[in-house]
Amino acid sequence: MSEAVRCEAAVWYGALRIYAAHFASRDFVFDDGMIVIETVLSEADGMPALHDSRLPQPLLQAFELAAPIYRSRFWPRDEAQNRAWIEAVHPTLARLNAPVGSRLAHVYQTPWLRLPYRVDVVNSASWEGSFANAADGYFQIVTSSGDKENSGPVAVDLLYHEASHSVVEPSRGTIGRAISRAAQAADKPEPSELWHALIFYTPSTIIRTLVEQSESRPYRGYPEIAGLSTRVWPRYFAAFARYWQPYVEGRGTLQGALTSVVNSVYQTVVPRTGGLRSSLAQFG
Ligand SMILES: [Zn+2]
Repeated sequence: MSEAVRCEAAVWYGALRIYAAHFASRDFVFDDGMIVIETVLSEADGMPALHDSRLPQPLLQAFELAAPIYRSRFWPRDEAQNRAWIEAVHPTLARLNAPVGSRLAHVYQTPWLRLPYRVDVVNSASWEGSFANAADGYFQIVTSSGDKENSGPVAVDLLYHEASHSVVEPSRGTIGRAISRAAQAADKPEPSELWHALIFYTPSTIIRTLVEQSESRPYRGYPEIAGLSTRVWPRYFAAFARYWQPYVEGRGTLQGALTSVVNSVYQTVVPRTGGLRSSLAQFG
């Protein structure tokens, strides 16, 4: 390793150490400080330097160290990859956008926000592959160009999951309130993250129908690829397929479908508390 490269590596690791100490463990969705950082960076697109009082000092310091190295060594590759992703996804999005958008608004019984939905494409957008936040004057989605699975209709599937975050929330809005009502009627707590599973299932099932109609090949959507339907929420997805799918296809009501989903989830809960109680009882 040459002396110049050794120097560059030391500077790069110095920046990484600052990032690791202050930011790496924080969340881009639930941590307000990180959301501010994220939107400032997004809006600074293409600026030669960052001087924004909303950015914390350690972050500016890390950027000052890392930016020249990133610009020369990584950015040309990342920028080409981001542009290639946009170019590749654009025709599929153009084809699916209108039918998926209008169908979803109809199913959610909620219009989309009257704001731009901005998509920032980056090499890696968190461990989940993408995330979304309400920014000032627009709704922001950040997605990964470096994830091989995030392509074609699956990319649109994931984009519409993120966009759904703008209109579906726990305990609020048409979906959140319908789940709350069903849980209250059963006198039970709301099934955890059911609303979130639903906004993975619904865009994906709508896209599946469209893709399978036009391409006559089975569609493997984001929930299947990411194991959401098999490992993370198998009971939720089974209930959606049985009780939510008919509503998505135009039969029944939103509340009726979600009440059936919630009741079905309660009925299929594996009784584990007995085992836990009896082991706790050993300790008095
Ligand atoms: Zn989500």
